[in-house]
Amino acid sequence: MSTGRAARVFRAVHGTACEGVWAAPGRVNLIGEYTDVNDGFVMPFALPHLTRVAARARTDGRLRLHSAAAPGAVVEAAAAELVPGAAAGWAAYPAGVFWALREAGHAVTGADLHIESEVPAGAGLSSSAALEVATALALDGLYGLGLARPELARLAQRAENAFVGVPCGAMDQIASACCADGHVLRLDTRDLSRRQIPLDPAAHGLRLLVVDTRVGHQVGDGAYARRRAGCESAARALGVRALRDVPYAQLPAALEELAGIPGAGELGVLVRHVVAENRRVEDVAALLDAGDARAVGPLLTAGHASLRDDFAVSCPELDLAVAAATGAGALGARMTGAGFGGSAVVLAEEAAAGAVEKAVTGAFAAAGHRAPHVFAVAPGAGARRVA
Ligand code: ADP
Ligand code: MG
Repeated sequence: MSTGRAARVFRAVHGTACEGVWAAPGRVNLIGEYTDVNDGFVMPFALPHLTRVAARARTDGRLRLHSAAAPGAVVEAAAAELVPGAAAGWAAYPAGVFWALREAGHAVTGADLHIESEVPAGAGLSSSAALEVATALALDGLYGLGLARPELARLAQRAENAFVGVPCGAMDQIASACCADGHVLRLDTRDLSRRQIPLDPAAHGLRLLVVDTRVGHQVGDGAYARRRAGCESAARALGVRALRDVPYAQLPAALEELAGIPGAGELGVLVRHVVAENRRVEDVAALLDAGDARAVGPLLTAGHASLRDDFAVSCPELDLAVAAATGAGALGARMTGAGFGGSAVVLAEEAAAGAVEKAVTGAFAAAGHRAPHVFAVAPGAGARRVA
């Protein structure tokens, strides 16, 4: 239905029929936070929520962009004039993808795009990656480039890093491009090797909930960059390429070593989070492989405590969502995404999910917070052509 609307609005805005509609999902990261900027392991799954891009190729070197989220204005750009910084606001995401494809030598000569999205923007569910990957897939389809999904994801990440100017890791775009229906994606962010691990919550009598706190995440204020830089300093001090190379068994020794280096002691909390979080991803993978989805819960909650206390990227609303959910009997809960707002993911028994949702919304009301959006999710499919 939404796909039909995307095509209809495309015609109304651009005055001609689109050639097709391409879609890419937002994502929830089940476990493995801030490990992607340390060459480590992550485990995202795709949301059922999609960003759709209706598109038509142009031969005149022009890019004409329209989004239902910014009705009215069509943003126009000349392909040859696109350089990082040339496009501001939302248009930088699709324009950046177009730029990244051209930079990589692909002959894309222009396009008309119309964008519709069900992925809440700025909620830590990666609406930005969904937009980039859907755009990349649309251009790939329009121009018959035949690029593999990981390559499309890499170009989408390059758009966000170099064109939009957000220093994100590789997880979001790979999740949006490569996830498979009914699976979580175990991704090694160093070599990008991937494994699809089945997870069907309903088959286990379980439910996955997302709590969108509706608190805007502000990763641009330097906190994200400072954590990244701290991790890099710690890796240098420990003589490893990245913190991923510190084995879990060597964590106490690494912390002791850092404590003995002037000025490096305070990096210990970052190291402890990253090294333990990598281990949690491995543990969750082993549990899911063994068919024991229920036992994943406590690892999620432990991951949240580490992000809250050691890595210090949570916020009162996320902490409240996790405390209220687990207090009401959820098996586990954690913030997901970069933090400072955004969303939490909760694993609960199906029978307890209603009580958990009520407890979370009740706790937010009692604390005077804006009402959160709580919704059930199951791992969905990655990017694809939908019309
Ligand atoms: P997140 O990826 O967690 O949703 P980001 O801040 O990384 O948050 O990306 C959100 C931004 O992406 C929005 O502010 C907007 O610029 C852009 N965006 C996302 N979805 C759309 C859309 N449907 N139309 C236009 N811009 C969008
Ligand atoms: Mg984003």
